[in-house]
Amino acid sequence: MHSKPLRKRADLTRREMPKQTPAIRTRNFSEVELGFPVETAMEEAARCRQCPDPSCLSGCPIGINIPAFIKCIADSDFSAGIRILREKNHLPAVCGRVCPAELNCEKHCSLKEKNGRISIGRLERFLADWETNQPDRYFSEISPFTGRKAAVIGGGPAGITAAGDLIRLGHRVTVFESFKELGGVLVYGIPEFRLPRSVVRREIEYLAGLGGEFQTSFVVGTMRTIDSILEEYDAVFVGTGVDLPSVADIPGVDLNGVYSANQYLTSMNLGSPIKDHKFLAVIGSGNAAFDCARTAIRLGAEVTLVCKKSRQDIPARPEEVLHAEEEGIVIEPSTQPVHCLGENGWVVSLQCVKAQFDPDENNAAFINGAEISYPVDAVICTIGNNPNPLIAATTPGLEMGEKGNISIDEATGKTSRNRVWAGGDVATGAVSIIASMSAGRKAARSMHQFLCSL
Ligand SMILES: Cc1cc2nc3c(=O)[nH]c(=O)nc-3n(C[C@H](O)[C@H](O)[C@H](O)COP(=O)(O)OP(=O)(O)OC[C@H]3O[C@@H](n4cnc5c(N)ncnc54)[C@H](O)[C@@H]3O)c2cc1C
Repeated sequence: MHSKPLRKRADLTRREMPKQTPAIRTRNFSEVELGFPVETAMEEAARCRQCPDPSCLSGCPIGINIPAFIKCIADSDFSAGIRILREKNHLPAVCGRVCPAELNCEKHCSLKEKNGRISIGRLERFLADWETNQPDRYFSEISPFTGRKAAVIGGGPAGITAAGDLIRLGHRVTVFESFKELGGVLVYGIPEFRLPRSVVRREIEYLAGLGGEFQTSFVVGTMRTIDSILEEYDAVFVGTGVDLPSVADIPGVDLNGVYSANQYLTSMNLGSPIKDHKFLAVIGSGNAAFDCARTAIRLGAEVTLVCKKSRQDIPARPEEVLHAEEEGIVIEPSTQPVHCLGENGWVVSLQCVKAQFDPDENNAAFINGAEISYPVDAVICTIGNNPNPLIAATTPGLEMGEKGNISIDEATGKTSRNRVWAGGDVATGAVSIIASMSAGRKAARSMHQFLCSL
């Protein structure tokens, strides 16, 4: 027990989370949002009505008992709260920061109209961060060893969830990861100012503490095939994500100074940023586009983000769009890039036209008018990724969809190959962290049934 439990719900307004001011945060890479102090978290939790039939539950794809952990915070029983979270979530500190709660659990909160929805994501983060400062961590219970071994290929949110669930169900699990550490997009994509590396590392330590074994810097398909892994393991889960950038279909993208979001963010996260650009344009409007723009402004560039979508159709999280504007990024919605112009092989301007975006057709039609020219010395294209073809090329009989995604049975994650499951972005195309985690969980459940039947 910690501070005194808050029994009264005196002030019903949604609590704000402290954050760095724009003037300060654009000069550093530290986390923008600073987390709830204890008292604020308890006040926010005390606003929860503990509905008898809680609608927020239907908005959590991984089945967290949301009202129960929130009640623990209001009652200042934080260790009980983290236990409830850990029952269902191997990545609470990650989800509490970057899961689009506004589209999931919070969207279903019964308070949404009246007083502002409960900040479910921020309360999840509060508990996970509280746990960081405790001398001992709670590790979920693990079933007795079944004698079965599973391999997980890819250590992103899908792989971590599949691995965590399979371990808890009593199987021995090895995660094969091509990078030198686990995390997937959480470590090589999302910038430090939104999701610090130390936070992800601590979640990976948790998986290791449960008993997960990791083979890092290990590229499946090159160093060992799935068929070879199946000789040693009873079942395989593939969660290799999408890391092959799509190329923008406009002339001039082959000029020097034009980068993909992957190149830009990965080089930053690996410690060798692409920098010294003065005027930089980002093409796109998803989370990756805003992550690139906000990284570039911290590296000293003036940044314009152009996207064909209208302002209200921008798919990035609203709070990231707000943060970007506060930081001085110019957003040009309904703007279609048409070509990059170069001089001596280097990009010098991005030519665009105003466009009207039709969300139903996912397409933009040009509005007649003059081209707009943005003088630039760098352009970053963030128009999406596809799976790397390596796994498909080295796994005979593994059926793939049109865009190179692994075809699966949606309910179970089963692929066309016996003893091989898949899930997350590699199967669905880029979606979200929580969707990948949910896919990892579904597959683990089906793999468990299979492993127990052997
Ligand atoms: C810049 C950016 C920002 C994002 N922001 C958000 C956000 O705020 N909120 C949100 O919900 N979603 C966000 N997303 C989307 C989200 O990160 C992904 O949907 C999610 O990470 C997918 O998880 P995954 O496990 O399927 O794949 P990944 O996270 O891509 O993990 C796949 C892992 O497999 C490994 N791998 C690949 N091939 C092999 C191989 N052959 N052998 C061994 N290992 C291999 C990769 O190295 C990687 O570690 C963002 C995406 C990007 C790119």
